[in-house]
Amino acid sequence: MTDPDSPVFDPDWDLATIAIRAGHRRTAEGEHSEPIFPTSSFVFASAAEAAARFAGDQPGNIYSRFTNPTVRIFEERLAAMEGGDCAVATASGMAAIMAVCLGLLEAGDHIVSSRSIFGTTTILFNRYMQRFGVATRYVPLDDLEAWERAITPATRLLFVETPSNPLTGLGDIRALADLAHAHGCLLVVDNAFCTPAVQRPLDLGADIVVHSATKYLDGQGRCMGGAVVGDDKRVGEDVYGVLRTTGPSLSPFNAWVFLKGLETLDLRMRAHSRNAARLAAWLEARPEVEKVFYPGLESHPQHALAQAQQRGFGGILSFIVKGGQASAWRVIDATRMLSITANLGDVKTTITHPATTTHGRLSDEDKAEAGIAAGLIRVAVGLESIDDIQADLARGLHA
Ligand SMILES: *Cc1c(COP(=O)(O)O)cnc(C)c1O
Repeated sequence: MTDPDSPVFDPDWDLATIAIRAGHRRTAEGEHSEPIFPTSSFVFASAAEAAARFAGDQPGNIYSRFTNPTVRIFEERLAAMEGGDCAVATASGMAAIMAVCLGLLEAGDHIVSSRSIFGTTTILFNRYMQRFGVATRYVPLDDLEAWERAITPATRLLFVETPSNPLTGLGDIRALADLAHAHGCLLVVDNAFCTPAVQRPLDLGADIVVHSATKYLDGQGRCMGGAVVGDDKRVGEDVYGVLRTTGPSLSPFNAWVFLKGLETLDLRMRAHSRNAARLAAWLEARPEVEKVFYPGLESHPQHALAQAQQRGFGGILSFIVKGGQASAWRVIDATRMLSITANLGDVKTTITHPATTTHGRLSDEDKAEAGIAAGLIRVAVGLESIDDIQADLARGLHA
C-alpha cells in the first residue's frame, strides 16, 4: 500500500522518479539496491507474537504466499506509478486477470469486454468463467453504443485493453469509465501495452488496472509476473484474498527483476515510442505496404484520442503488405535480426504474423471481422538502432 507519509514516496515526484525510488525502505544493512528476500516463511519473537500475526492484530510477514518484502516494494512502486491506493502482484498477467474475476464476481454476474483482447483472456472468460456461471459479451472496442447495449442488470465488469493488439485500435477510457459507473459497474483496463509511463487509466476514471509484468515492466523478456492495481477494498482485500488463498503469488526473485525493470521504464518507453514512430513513418512511405496501424500516425483514425489519453504512442505497430500471406511470410523469413516470436515488450524487436499465430484459431469470417488480414504483420519495436531494424525489414520488402 502506498503511504504518502513514507520517506520513500513523495506524491509530487514525477513518474520517472517514482519508478526508481518508491517503495524501498532500507533495512538495517543500509543497502542501496533493493534486497531480495528468498524465504518462504518468517519467524516470530514469541508464541504471542505469532498468534497476533495470525489473528491479524499485528502487521508483519508470516509466509511468502501472503506477503514478501521484495514483492511488497514492487507492489508499492507500481501502485504509486499507476496512481492507485494499492497493488497486488501475481505470478503472471493471466493470474492477475483471474484474480480480478474470482475476487469481484460471482455466479450469475456478467462481463462486457472488448472483442480485441489478449487471446488467453478470451479463453479464461469463455471456457472457465462461463463454467462458474459468469457470462461474457464481446463488443467492438471503439463502439460506445455497442458497449451500452451489451450491459445488462447482471453486468459487473467492463473489460478493455487499449491500444488493441495487433491493430492498435483505441478504447476511450474516460467514456468507458463513465458508462461503467452510470450502470453500477467497474471498468477494468489491461494496461500491459502502455504501462503507466504511457497511460494511467485510473486518472481517466478506470477502477482497476491489470498488468502482465512479463512484458514492458520487465522489459527484457526474463520473468513472468503480473499485478492488479486499484483501491484498498477491491484490490487490497477482495483480489488479494483470492491470491493468498489460491496461490499464484509473485516470487521475490521475479519481483526484484521487475524492480530493476521499472527503474528504466520511463526511459525505455520513450525510446520504444521513438523507434516505433520512426518505423511507422518509414513503412507508410514504402510502396510495398498497403496500410500501417500506429496511434502516433496522423493517418490513425483515433490519433487525437491517443494524444489525449496517452503520453507517447508505445512500441507496437502493425502493417499490411501487398500480396497477402505469401508476402507477409517472405518479409518475416527474410529478417536476420528480428526475433520471430509472439512475445512483446522486450528490448529485442519481435515480428509476428497474427493470422497464422496469435489469431490463427479464428475462422476466416472472424478474422475478416476483426481486421486480421492475411498480409498483416505485427512488430513490437525494440531498442536496437532503428536503422538496423529498418534494414532488416527492407530485405524482405525488396524481395
Ligand atoms: C501477455 C499479456 C497478458 C498475459 O500475461 P502473462 O504474463 O503472459 O500471463 C495479458 N494481457 C496482455 C495485453 C498481454 O500482452
